[in-house]
Amino acid sequence: MKNVVVIGGGPAGIMAAGAAARRGASVTLLEKNDRLGRKLYITGKGRCNITNASDPETLIQNVATNARFMYPSFYAFGSDDVIRFFKDLGLVTKVERGGRVFPASDKSSDVVDALGAFLKKARVNTRLGCKARGVLIKNGKVIGVKTASGETVGADAAVVSTGGMSYPLTGSDGDGYRFAKESGHTISPPRPSLTPIIVKERFDLEGLSLRNVEITAKILKKIVYKSMGEMVFTARGVSGPLILTLSRVIIGKYGLNPEINIDLKPALTERELDARVLRDFTDRANRDFGNGLDGLLPRKIIPAVIDVCDIPPGKKIRDITKEERAGLVRALKGFKLTAVGSGGFDEAIVTKGGVNVSEVKPATMESRLVGGLYFAGETLDVDGFTGGYNLQIAFSTGWAAGDSAGGD
Ligand SMILES: Cc1cc2nc3c(=O)[nH]c(=O)nc-3n(C[C@H](O)[C@H](O)[C@H](O)COP(=O)(O)OP(=O)(O)OC[C@H]3O[C@@H](n4cnc5c(N)ncnc54)[C@H](O)[C@@H]3O)c2cc1C
Repeated sequence: MKNVVVIGGGPAGIMAAGAAARRGASVTLLEKNDRLGRKLYITGKGRCNITNASDPETLIQNVATNARFMYPSFYAFGSDDVIRFFKDLGLVTKVERGGRVFPASDKSSDVVDALGAFLKKARVNTRLGCKARGVLIKNGKVIGVKTASGETVGADAAVVSTGGMSYPLTGSDGDGYRFAKESGHTISPPRPSLTPIIVKERFDLEGLSLRNVEITAKILKKIVYKSMGEMVFTARGVSGPLILTLSRVIIGKYGLNPEINIDLKPALTERELDARVLRDFTDRANRDFGNGLDGLLPRKIIPAVIDVCDIPPGKKIRDITKEERAGLVRALKGFKLTAVGSGGFDEAIVTKGGVNVSEVKPATMESRLVGGLYFAGETLDVDGFTGGYNLQIAFSTGWAAGDSAGGD
């Protein structure tokens, strides 16, 4: 019987361990935390966006780095397979806006529980509180894994699924990169990706979430990103799906900080919006301007919009001129922010960089350099956009690695 050791009990490692055991291998899963999937609990704001209900081609389009590498594993174990996999474990899922798939209960803990049941059913020997220190290699082949307590766990194959470096408090702090380097692999420098953006402007808008807004980011007047969706203001700037994706597009690619334009009313042209404002103003003619925008905007953002549109808040609405109204429309269609930085690993949803995929076989995740050594999940130099794509990457690569490591 083949002995397989999987290092790291996140989604990729759990999937790899279970898949290897299903092939008849004796599998040991080492997780340094005292529970599995610590990061999973906080995914999707505690709801866990497990995948995106898309065909493999769409999944590939949403992989930001090394998308081509993902072809075989997405085709072998795509989002349909993930949804069916969880259904077989008793987890009912639902599809939300943009194809995002969540547990019907909205509880990420149900996803972790289902994965725990998968390991139990597959008879994986799960060892919690057990940190791996290195992979033991002899004559170009894996022979075991050394733990931090000095124990050697013998193995014919080892799967390194220790995650990236983002949210290091959850356990993923870069050990897998070290294991990869020690075994002769190259690492693309790890960088925080999908991070909040820090802006120059100071508004009291923390916690304000805006839906259906359009963001355009420009550098030296050139549009580098334009998309519609949801965003949220933070203490130092902005975050939410639109901004996280923007961060992935701009960080490390452009040296200059972009100007971010938020169209608060993207469904209306300037003319249509002016007509709408005029209607609102007619209904509120005797109010002060400062009290007249409640039909148009969430209350919290009104002072900030007033600030930028040059109409005194005490001015009576009936006295507002056509030009002033045009200024308000411009402010609503172009609420401007200036990016001055981005969050670090502590705030990054995912890590860009990792084990060089040219040294890994895409169908099996086995190293091209060391026999029986596999990589899965965020440890690899593959990262996706928001929308469930990163967990899909973890599940697909984990499945491919385990299926191969546990096979004959
Ligand atoms: C706040 C947040 C929200 C997110 N939301 C989503 C979402 O909704 N949908 C989505 O698709 N993606 C989401 N992601 C990204 C997603 O969680 C990760 O891409 C995914 O967890 C990566 O899986 P992994 O198994 O490769 O690594 P991880 O989940 O990081 O797991 C790695 C595991 O390895 C263990 N480990 C590390 N070193 C060792 C060692 N030496 N010995 C033993 N064990 C070790 C760690 O403790 C950890 O448990 C989110 C990320 C964050 C931070």
